[in-house]
Amino acid sequence: MKQDETCELQSELNRLCAKFRVGKHLHVIVTEDKDNDSLVMARKSLGLPEFQDISGEVIGDILFIYITDDFKRAMHTLHHEFFEWFINARFVKGYDYLVHVYHDVITRMVYNDKEEGIERLAFAEDLEYKRLKKEGTKRG
Ligand SMILES: [Zn+2]
Repeated sequence: MKQDETCELQSELNRLCAKFRVGKHLHVIVTEDKDNDSLVMARKSLGLPEFQDISGEVIGDILFIYITDDFKRAMHTLHHEFFEWFINARFVKGYDYLVHVYHDVITRMVYNDKEEGIERLAFAEDLEYKRLKKEGTKRG
């Protein structure tokens, strides 16, 4: 990933934070090294599931993107992870508290539907990003 592409990902994330009025600003880190010790430890301490094949995730204030060779896919990952983080922070956590006895079962049950919804949101933002870029180029 080129430096200006990483900057572009960060400014897109800033745009989303402003659009959805999320107070705290997230930071983007693009890295291939998703299995380094500190990330593995952070996932463990947060109780995040260990997926074999993740393309991104949010840990703390950092949105990690593990796709380094394809800007379009990295952008889609950013959109996906933003919505996943947003939905988890705003809707799922409160719900989790009530159902913590069934936490594992319900998380697994909810996960598939949630992913589908998140993908729809992410594709919508892919389109908006494309449209905004097109308008930006027209104006020069
Ligand atoms: Zn996801």
